[in-house]
Amino acid sequence: MKKIFCAVILIFGLGCFTANSSAPTGSEKLTRMLQVSTLSLLKEGNVRFVEGKSFHPNQEISRRAELAAAGEEPSATILACSDSRDPVELIFDRGVGDLFVVRVAGNVAGLSELATMEYGVTHLGTPLLIVMGHSKCGAVTAAVKGAELHGHLPSLISLIKPAAEKAKNNGPEEECVPRAIELNVWQQVENIFAKSALVREFAAEGKVQIVGAVYDIATGKVQWLGQHPEIDRLLAEAKSDTKVQDAHAAHDATPQAAEPVKATEPAKVEADVPVTPSHAEPAQAQAQYPTAHIKAVRAVKIEEAAPTQATVKTAAAHKTSPH
Ligand SMILES: [Zn+2]
Repeated sequence: MKKIFCAVILIFGLGCFTANSSAPTGSEKLTRMLQVSTLSLLKEGNVRFVEGKSFHPNQEISRRAELAAAGEEPSATILACSDSRDPVELIFDRGVGDLFVVRVAGNVAGLSELATMEYGVTHLGTPLLIVMGHSKCGAVTAAVKGAELHGHLPSLISLIKPAAEKAKNNGPEEECVPRAIELNVWQQVENIFAKSALVREFAAEGKVQIVGAVYDIATGKVQWLGQHPEIDRLLAEAKSDTKVQDAHAAHDATPQAAEPVKATEPAKVEADVPVTPSHAEPAQAQAQYPTAHIKAVRAVKIEEAAPTQATVKTAAAHKTSPH
């Protein structure tokens, strides 16, 4: 069923196009579908984890061999805390090769973390970037309470300090740490937008959606925060920044380099195509669903950029598909 669905998307996508140039292209629609279906998959996985009904997908011996041969294609990049009670793959009931996880105390976006997230978003092409804090976070608590710190810890905690100060000045003292944990999620999203031109550009173009979350270490439940409360402003600034960069690039480019590459027709996606699989499908199949989407959207993106390579890549995507 999934293979047929994937094939339908590709056949429709490669054969049709929308006349309105301002309308989303096929790959943009597919990316959006991928963002929705991946988030849905993670939410469903967390529900199973909370209820003690995890499937433990993609942990077979064959999965390791498959990924070693084909390379990794994770469906989401996740910035989370190193706390041992915060095991990301388990929380979302995912397996080997499913998530590109960056773990660091306080889930801060320092330079190494930014570089790693950039790799996940721009090189591996994950359409989702999740910044996830957790309850009773020691790093955030240290920032709030002004704990005495040694070694390299002060530089790490300094990245959390703005959120801690905001939390202290905004609400009851007894809820200061939980408030700081949530504000720290947004603080790190702001750091990503401020310091990573690559992720900022991908976000502005809709290639990645950045979502906040807080994990409750006692219940196992993930509280989904959605996008940053001021996401419109952040994206507007990012788009403006991208336009400035584009203008500079166009000015600097030679006429030959500036020659646009002729793209093939963008894909058309039926509006009523289901984003998530039918609940009548086996539950285990749902847990493995996004891989076909990822391969499909990448195949279409490649087709738009370089028609001659796309045929090869599309065929390769089908060949390596586990479905
Ligand atoms: Zn923590």
